[in-house]
Formats: sequence, C-alpha cells, structure tokens
Amino acid sequence: MASLFAQLSKEQQQTLSGIKTPYYLLDERAIVNNLKIAQQISAQSGAKPLLALKCFATWGVFEAMKPYLFGTTSSSLNEVRLGRECFGGETHAYSVAYADHEIDEVLSYADKIIFNSFNQLTRFEQKARDAGVAMGLRINPKTSNSSFLIADPARPFSRLGEHDVDKILAVADRISGVMIHNNCENDDFDAFNQSLTEIENRFSALFHQLDWVSFGGGIHYIADNYPISAFAKRLQDFSERYGVQIYLEPGEAAVHQAAELVTTVLDTLHNGKPLAVVDASIEAHMLDLLIYRQSAPLACVNQTAYHIKGGDFDGDGSDDGSVRIYGKSCLAGDIFGDYVLDAPLEVGDKVVFANAAAYTMVKKNWFNGVDMPAIVIVRENGEIVIQRQFDYQDYKASLS
Ligand SMILES: *Cc1c(COP(=O)(O)O)cnc(C)c1O
Repeated sequence: MASLFAQLSKEQQQTLSGIKTPYYLLDERAIVNNLKIAQQISAQSGAKPLLALKCFATWGVFEAMKPYLFGTTSSSLNEVRLGRECFGGETHAYSVAYADHEIDEVLSYADKIIFNSFNQLTRFEQKARDAGVAMGLRINPKTSNSSFLIADPARPFSRLGEHDVDKILAVADRISGVMIHNNCENDDFDAFNQSLTEIENRFSALFHQLDWVSFGGGIHYIADNYPISAFAKRLQDFSERYGVQIYLEPGEAAVHQAAELVTTVLDTLHNGKPLAVVDASIEAHMLDLLIYRQSAPLACVNQTAYHIKGGDFDGDGSDDGSVRIYGKSCLAGDIFGDYVLDAPLEVGDKVVFANAAAYTMVKKNWFNGVDMPAIVIVRENGEIVIQRQFDYQDYKASLS
C-alpha cells in the first residue's frame, strides 16, 4: 500500500509544509476508490450501501461520497441528525437504547428506525407509527465473524439485539425489517456465506415476512482478491428468495486506507533500544489501536517508504534493530509501534501513520491536552484544503 503522503506532488507537498503537525490527511480519491467497489456490489446485487457514521463522520468529504452511497446509518440522535443534515438520502436510525426525551427528534430525521430490543419496540412503536417511520428490529443470530471479544456482538450475554426466534416471529407483523450486524473486518467470503446460511436456517420464516434486511457492517469486501461477484450474487439470491431489499452498512470498508496521521518527531531517547516521541498520541488520536492492542501501520518517514517490521510492543522489548515510536501523552503505553527503519529517526522527521480514517476522528479526545490534529483534505481534483484546525479554545470548550 503506497503512502498517500509520499505520493503527493511537489506542489501539494509545498502546501502541506506550511501546515503544523499533527494532522489527519484525508484523501477523497482513496475514499472514492473504496466506494466504487460498494457501488459495483450495489449494481450487481441491488443491495443499498449506507455509510455507518459511527466509524467515520467527517462531513467535509460527504459531497465526494454521496454519489456512491444511498444514505447513512447511525447509532445515536447526534449521528442520525448529522446524517439527515449533512448527507441526505436514506437515513436509518439505530441505537442500543433510545431515551424518552430523544425519540421524537430521532423520528424527525429518520426514514427507518431500528430498535435494539422488544422493550424499545413496544415503548416507541406508536410514536414511530404516528411519524410514519418504518420500524425494524436488531436481531442477534448468536453467531459472528469477529476475532475480538470486545467487538463481538454475539459474545456471551450480549445486549445487541434479540435472539429468540419464536419471540421475534411473534412481533414480525409489527416491523418491516431487521438488522443483523455480526461481522467485524471479515475478509473471508466463505465465512460470511456460511454464517448467512446458518442464519437463514434459523430465521427464514421471519425473512419471508419482511420488506428489508440489513446485513450491517464489518464485511471487508474491499480486501484484495475478495470475490466481489460471488458476494453480490449471494446478496441478490437472498434478496430474491425472501423478496427483501438488502442494506449494507459499511464503515471501515468505506474509508479503509483513506487517511494518514502526519506527525513530527519531537525527541529521541535510548532505553534498551532507540525510542522516539512524536507530537500525536495513540490514545488521543488513534484510540482503536490501543483498544485492540495493535500497532499503527507506518506509511512513510519523510516521504520515504522504509522497511517496516510488524510491531509487537508486548514482546520482550529486546533490541532487534527497531525503534519504538511513542505518542506524547504521559500514558506509559502510548505506543504507535516498533519499526525497523533504514536510518535512525531524528528530531524534526515527519512520521506518517497509515489507515487513519476509520474509528480515529470519531474517537479523538483531549487527553493530556495534547494538540488535536487538524483535518486536512486532498480533494478529488488534487486541491488541498485545511478543513479544520483546533486550538486552546476548543480544548477549553470541551470542558467547563
Ligand atoms: C459498527 C457498525 C457498523 C460499521 O461497521 P464496520 O466494521 O466499520 O463496517 C455498521 N452497522 C452497525 C450496526 C454497527 O454497529
């Protein structure tokens, strides 16, 4: 995967050199390349992809995304409002639990509302009916393709959706569709196919009564060699078998590798091995990596692609020729990763981390008061736009 940052023209580099690090460098062309795959699947299968805003909600690039998607799906009042106001198209509302005081406003933005439980359905169905908003239920098939327990909707005692087939069938006439989200970065079509078959074996009577079924997100159909046509065919067959409209809810697959986090080395130390500290923080700016205990993919250093060793910062830490790159928060484990580079890092070097669009900007925080990365966009026509810079007033305003 070539670095976005390293591929910029001289002129674009010139523009960027005037921008203070850290910043997220977001590339519309990379997003569009992902979305063209979604569009192709949609054309072949009839499925409608919606952007999952919880993964990515940087509305400054929504104009570039709109032509390829049918709308958005959400996990809260704020997200459904953003989807309606800034994206348009079909606006799906879902939340693990709605509060009484937010439901009217949610319904004012939503084309469909997906309740997480029988209780929520019963509590709010009259309001949804009065508002003319189609209703769905999240179902939990108790099987999933997720390699992380923390992201496994089918984990033991999961609160994500209803699972009892008979009880779900008993409410089937009160809903028009269901949402099943049980994949997490699943790039294995056979695994998807097999678990869908299992789900059909249990829920086919339900599907026959519905108008629509959403398969959620987490299907990594953008992976190299993913059998796009077989996937599309599977969706189309399902859709025809039950007479349902299928929705997909890509988050990661919409913005995979579409941004980089550009940082600068502030200091170097040595403690058993070479160390470097950059002006960003894994905890504040790429939090998912910390949660999933992964290291950040390194895109380039000073526009050069370096040899990069897979980081294992829980290893024995022996001096294997790698440099450990740290964030500047005071968290001891604020580690981007261990990397074998062709030359030692020096103060002032630009260190650029890859795959910084999904689950980064939506999770950034002001821990340690570390400077918030600016959001810089490379438009489809190559123009570079500073979409947003953050300062002390933003930090202050986030507290009181
Ligand atoms: C998280 C989530 C998505 C998006 O998942 P990705 O893995 O980013 O594609 C879609 N739908 C639901 C219900 C989700 O919880």
